[in-house]
Amino acid sequence: MQEPEAIIIRLGELTLKGKNRRRFEKKMMEQIANLMKAYPKATTHEEYARVYVVLNGEPYDEIAAGLNRVFGLTSYSPALTAGLDLEDIRRRALEWMRGKTPAPKTFKVSAKRANKAFPHTSQEIGHLVGGYILRQEDGKLAVDVHKPDMEVKIDIRQNEAFVFSDSIPGTGGYPVGSNGRAMLMLSGGIDSPVAGWQSMRRGLEIEGVHFHSYPYTSERAQQKVIDLTRKLARYTSDRIVLHMVPFTEIQTRLNQSRTDSLLITLMRRSMFRITEQLAAERRAGAIVTGESLGQVASQTLPSMQVIGDGIRLPILRPLIMSDKTEIIKQAEAIDTFNLSILPYEDCCTLFVPKSPATSPNLNVVERMEKSLDFLPELEREAVERTEKLFIREHDEDKFDEYF
Ligand code: ATP
Ligand code: MG
Repeated sequence: MQEPEAIIIRLGELTLKGKNRRRFEKKMMEQIANLMKAYPKATTHEEYARVYVVLNGEPYDEIAAGLNRVFGLTSYSPALTAGLDLEDIRRRALEWMRGKTPAPKTFKVSAKRANKAFPHTSQEIGHLVGGYILRQEDGKLAVDVHKPDMEVKIDIRQNEAFVFSDSIPGTGGYPVGSNGRAMLMLSGGIDSPVAGWQSMRRGLEIEGVHFHSYPYTSERAQQKVIDLTRKLARYTSDRIVLHMVPFTEIQTRLNQSRTDSLLITLMRRSMFRITEQLAAERRAGAIVTGESLGQVASQTLPSMQVIGDGIRLPILRPLIMSDKTEIIKQAEAIDTFNLSILPYEDCCTLFVPKSPATSPNLNVVERMEKSLDFLPELEREAVERTEKLFIREHDEDKFDEYF
């Protein structure tokens, strides 16, 4: 492909109307503007759910990779620019055509004229440019209006024209934050970062919640979670709040309490209660986890029922029906996989009972919790002592900012 001089970006799901649509486009424009900050020579302007970026020498590949991280984007097209002059448009269209590999054998030209001051109609432009290309290519090309190898598209705007052909699909979804906020229970594993990414693509702003058992778990395990959050932060135009919950005390006390096969069930109930308290503090409307049906003892239907019992917020499990191979593929695509497989201890692997319950009984669990009268107080304390970090893509220091 010839080095593009411009990018035409299409915003939004076309089904959105009115106020929603404007709010949605505003959020996306913020993200695009944020992306373009690193490329000061490029100019950007928006017209009717399209954004025209003229690169002025800024790198296409890098910017296109950035666009793939903006959710809600329908598609984008690399393009050439031309003056509002038929001869110039013809030359640029021919150039664009000749830059295409493999060389097309058939083509068609279609034009759209937003600028009614341009002296030819869309149809005329199609003929005038198509005829020119045919003459220049002299027998090497034929017109095919139904299934051409290449469609050369011409978009006549107010100040310039654009020549393009392919539309590259965007990642889809909704702009981050347009559907509210949720707490993502983020371990250092493979699944939860992918669940976070999927939630963000659906328009949720996420805040991470990580339970650590320092000093039983290392600082490097915490750093890993920070690094994973940093990867997710690339999909926002802002930062992600990460809540670091000290879980050592609760875990140790539960472990000493002869809970046997129910240890994990009790631990996870406690994690959810704490996450729900943090959610209330942060006005979040849901809890997201990386659980996948049947993957481990705590992810069977009976376990999930007992673990989620008493939690009033919706618990979203985007990966519930996904196979591990699919999850791994996505983890690779969002570049979290290599971090996730670093071998640092997770708090959940510290005290694993020999055979964790796959079918816990809610009555037994509730009775047991009643006897563990230290729990509510310890959970409150854990919430109070939770450290809150702001994580951006390029932060240098780890614990640099607090609320
Ligand atoms: P992951 O790969 O995300 O760690 P997993 O398959 O290892 O998932 P579990 O360890 O049972 O499964 O955890 C299930 C879910 O519970 C995780 O996806 C995550 O949402 C949450 N979770 C587990 N451990 C922690 C933790 N230390 N801090 C926060 N959330 C956690
Ligand atoms: Mg895990």
